[in-house]
Amino acid sequence: MASKEPERKTKKTAEKTAKRAVKKAARKHPGVVIAIVVILLVLIAVGVVLYLKVDAVQQAINRIIDPPSETATVSGDGSGNLSGGGDGASSSDGSGDTPPKVTTYGDKDLSFHFLELGNNYTGDSTYIKAGDVDILIDAGSRQNSAATIAAEVNKYCTDGKLEYVIATHAHQDHIAGFTNTKTNDGIFKRYECEVIIDFALTNATSATYNNYVTARDAEVALGAKHYTALECVRETNGAKKTYELGEGMTMTVLYQAYYETKTDDENNYSVCVLFTHGDKNYLLTGDLEAEGEASLVENNALPEVELFKAGHHGSYTASTDTLLKVIKPKIVCVCCCAGAVEYTQNSANTFPSQAFIDRVAPYTVRVYVTTVGTVAYNETKGKYEDTGFASMNGNITVLSRNGEVTVTCSNNDTVLKDTEWFAANRTRPPAWAA
Ligand SMILES: [Zn+2]
Repeated sequence: MASKEPERKTKKTAEKTAKRAVKKAARKHPGVVIAIVVILLVLIAVGVVLYLKVDAVQQAINRIIDPPSETATVSGDGSGNLSGGGDGASSSDGSGDTPPKVTTYGDKDLSFHFLELGNNYTGDSTYIKAGDVDILIDAGSRQNSAATIAAEVNKYCTDGKLEYVIATHAHQDHIAGFTNTKTNDGIFKRYECEVIIDFALTNATSATYNNYVTARDAEVALGAKHYTALECVRETNGAKKTYELGEGMTMTVLYQAYYETKTDDENNYSVCVLFTHGDKNYLLTGDLEAEGEASLVENNALPEVELFKAGHHGSYTASTDTLLKVIKPKIVCVCCCAGAVEYTQNSANTFPSQAFIDRVAPYTVRVYVTTVGTVAYNETKGKYEDTGFASMNGNITVLSRNGEVTVTCSNNDTVLKDTEWFAANRTRPPAWAA
């Protein structure tokens, strides 16, 4: 302690002397002092630039070693390998001064449930659980499907409330379960529905359609909000284009021209919805056909998707290359009764059609189908008839949890190409070589 005091004094004296000398010099040679100050400033500037450059080089090296998933656009490798996309969470190691884009998945799951409908008719009903938010898209295919759908939905939705209900288009196989009969309550009656989004246009005049409108309007009278897809994309009358479902989760109604353009093909009126969870995307397009898919691609910067609900039940008229080459699906779920002759006697065109399989195969082997039908040839009528149905994969659940996407099915997890039905009814595309 004692020895510090004189040291400090000496230091102070030295400082004073130096300051005095500088002042003296400044008075004598002002130009020299200015020059020294300028040189010092230049040195500081050079130092800062060099520091930043070194940092940028370091960042570039880091990027080569460990590319961040946000910028790495995985070109379709066709392997269907889900782990190929990298995960956003691990890229946030925070080297460098620029904070890396952190992908937020939140602590809630997003799950898609492609439901069996309890009969041998092809139809759609997809229940989606986004954290605490419950969503139902379509309620086909017959009125009594509502009971089958509710039995599954109630495993996850315990408060009797569906925050969002979407009816994609006015065909029976999508809206029948919304309607009521004297003995059967439809979905609107079974649940408190908060927001109903449906097709902006229709040519439908069927009893099922009229019953749908009656049931929907009854729910609106009870307080539900009703918007068309066109109101959503235009954000008019209180409708939104994108709904926040929870941390890192959104549901966006995508524009396509048939929300406001008349067509003979009711399927093209389908409401199209894109879900996101962190950097993962999930696309459902109802029964949208080739023309609608072209419009969808033209009007939206569509991302690559983890999941695509097969267009129009795996019809040869949907899931076109125009759409697939953009979205490059990793998982495809087909809602249909495989091989049923409800719509066609041409076996190649029964759902899921050979053409659909051929187009999807280059992108993924992970194709799942809800139900399989049995058919028999009726000699008297000279045609095939549907005789029954069974679960193929059953209820298909696609779960997005913190950047991991998994598929589990109620019956089995066998992908389409490995099923007996496929071996007996379809030709293996080259991309699905055994
Ligand atoms: Zn349909």
